[in-house]
Amino acid sequence: MNRIDEHPQFGHHLSEAIADGIVIVDETGVIRHVNRRLANLTGYSREEMIDQDIDVLIPGRFRDPHVAHLSTYVAHSKSRKMGSSGNFTLQCRDGSEIDVDIALSPFEIDDKKWVTATIRDGRSQRVRERSHDDVEQRFRLAFESNMAPMMFHDHENRVIAVNDAFCLMIGRTRDELVGLDSTAYTHPEDLGITEATHDRLTSGEVSQARYVKRYLHKDGRVVVVEVFKAPARDAVGNTLYYVLSQRDITEERALTEQLSHQALHDPLTGLANRALFDDRLSQALARAARFGDLGAVLLLDLDDFKGVNDTYGHVVGDQLLRSVVQRLEEITRTSDTLCRFGGDEFLYLAEALDSPDQAHQLAQRVLRTFAQPFAVAGTFLQLGVSIGIVLWDGPGTSTTEVIQNADIALYEAKRQGKSRSVFFTANMQLNAMSRFALTQQLRHALHSGDLEMHYQPIMDLRTSEVVGFEALMRWQHAERGWVPPSVFIALAEENELILEIGLFALRESIEALTRWDTKSAHAHRPFVTVNLSLRQFHDSELVPTIANALSTSGLEPSRLILEITESVTLLEIGETLNVIERLKALGIAIALDDFGTGYSSLSYLTLLQPKIIKIDQSFVSPAHESVHNHTLLEAIVSLGRNLNMIVIAEGIETESQLERLRQMGCDLGQGHLFSRAMRIDDLKELVDENRGHWAGSNYQLRLTD
Ligand code: C2E
Ligand code: MG
Ligand code: MG
Repeated sequence: MNRIDEHPQFGHHLSEAIADGIVIVDETGVIRHVNRRLANLTGYSREEMIDQDIDVLIPGRFRDPHVAHLSTYVAHSKSRKMGSSGNFTLQCRDGSEIDVDIALSPFEIDDKKWVTATIRDGRSQRVRERSHDDVEQRFRLAFESNMAPMMFHDHENRVIAVNDAFCLMIGRTRDELVGLDSTAYTHPEDLGITEATHDRLTSGEVSQARYVKRYLHKDGRVVVVEVFKAPARDAVGNTLYYVLSQRDITEERALTEQLSHQALHDPLTGLANRALFDDRLSQALARAARFGDLGAVLLLDLDDFKGVNDTYGHVVGDQLLRSVVQRLEEITRTSDTLCRFGGDEFLYLAEALDSPDQAHQLAQRVLRTFAQPFAVAGTFLQLGVSIGIVLWDGPGTSTTEVIQNADIALYEAKRQGKSRSVFFTANMQLNAMSRFALTQQLRHALHSGDLEMHYQPIMDLRTSEVVGFEALMRWQHAERGWVPPSVFIALAEENELILEIGLFALRESIEALTRWDTKSAHAHRPFVTVNLSLRQFHDSELVPTIANALSTSGLEPSRLILEITESVTLLEIGETLNVIERLKALGIAIALDDFGTGYSSLSYLTLLQPKIIKIDQSFVSPAHESVHNHTLLEAIVSLGRNLNMIVIAEGIETESQLERLRQMGCDLGQGHLFSRAMRIDDLKELVDENRGHWAGSNYQLRLTD
């Protein structure tokens, strides 16, 4: 026998081999066969089930409907496949119930009807199904109620789904969003980002993308987000849709910006601070190095700001600083950077200048903004500013060097009398760097004979006769050549050295007159004017020293004239007048030097009553000739004459200037037109050569009366 299915044991073995439970009932519902699997499933032994009604395996509540089912089923039998509907419940021996899937198949043998029921334990399948539902449920929950704004996009980048957080973030409802692409609510400048990223994802260039973009909230606010976008794929790797998870970083951005603003700006004025300025400056220098751009830094320092702080307190000082910044900001070009350098100092970085003159004009504009007083704390404060300017137009300058040089130029501006701007020159740098060394050398020069007095003739403008001369100090430095008095006198003024130097000038000048007299074949007696510095003037030894020098030399006191500037009156006016009285008592005249450059020249004229006023050369040979200048000059000359003072014009350089002064009736003058300052012997030679022009002067009379 080759066919196994004809073997009498075949049915038994087959039934035992099946993994599901098998039960066969006859047409009355009595169990005629069960396999071992069903016995295991129900807890009954096979013997207990055989010949029992199928009802033993059916829970009581389903028995009645089952009887009906069975009879109709037997009458019209048709196979029923196994389903997973969960409708079938098996009752076990211990009364417990099991969800099962059942397949029924009817058959007939010898006109008798039978039904085979294959019973599969449905519990694991059910568990599997339920957990699938759970995952979907949990996922939906995670999506819907996620704090992170999320959305799904289709292949055309249109919204399939969005969650509440996303809707909230951009102030739009689900209905407004689903079906649209993000163009409608993306910041116009960021449309490209969205498209480019989508292209890179769909082309497979990247498998996921992280980027930052800006949305527009319905109320118009800009919302900055960080987006993470990745495709969701099916089992074989096809992209189903795209998942976008996002993070609102608007506040974070703002905070970072605020922090970096704080790190780079001055809290009082809101201006750039040193760190930011250094950065901008080094960029500007790099551009200059590459392209030769012309740039400038202006270092501004408020004049006498300390005085404001001391008088009115720091609160008012701060208010004043803010007002100053307000005015400065008004004239700051957008391409330029204004920085608070510290205290009352500011830096202005100007880039892409056409010419150095533009830097000068900028400085002038700054100076003009200070012309009006500042209204602070119920009062008006007049404030000045001094400016040091540095230019560059090529490689080789460092930020430190620029600022150092600006500082040197600023120092120079202060030294020249404040409220002005000065360009840095290499010469200045040398001065500044060796200030200390220079003071030492000056001290040495005084004793070694390197310091000399030169004399510039002072002429009667009507007759062109020499009537006197101004003593001007000269220093021939072994390495640096002639050092200008503006540099070394200022240096000496910084300490007591000026007193020694001043004494030297006095003694030399008196000696020069004596030499002149002894060598002179003529009877005329020129005078000498000697410049006095501020410190010298207020030195208690000044008057006794002069008295002593005069008596030792036997010089007529009327031939010695002392030049002072308005600055001597900056100290206590009572003391100043006292010194002047004592000098006058000695028979010495006072000349008010650099007249017209100070602030209160007129009031001091009446107070000090000098014998002579020396008109500053800026009026005599101004940089720009103008009607205005001419009128001023004329006014000063006639003022002096009306007050019965002798007027000396300084710095006459041209014939036309001389002619003009003559017409105005100016008495005396000096300047390069006649002669520079020179050694007394050389000057004497010159005068002697021009003997015909020399005559005893009447001015001596007028000087002593
Ligand atoms: P100052 O007293 O006003 O002297 C006049 C300045 O004008 C001198 O400069 C002189 O050389 C210059 N000068 C004369 N004629 C002309 C001209 O036609 N054109 C131009 N551009 N300049 C002319 P210097 O010698 O350089 O002296 C500068 C300043 O230094 C003086 O100004 C004075 O304030 C100070 N100084 C010079 N010698 C002494 C001194 O012995 N003692 C003190 N305390 N100061 C001195
Ligand atoms: Mg002088
Ligand atoms: Mg002068």
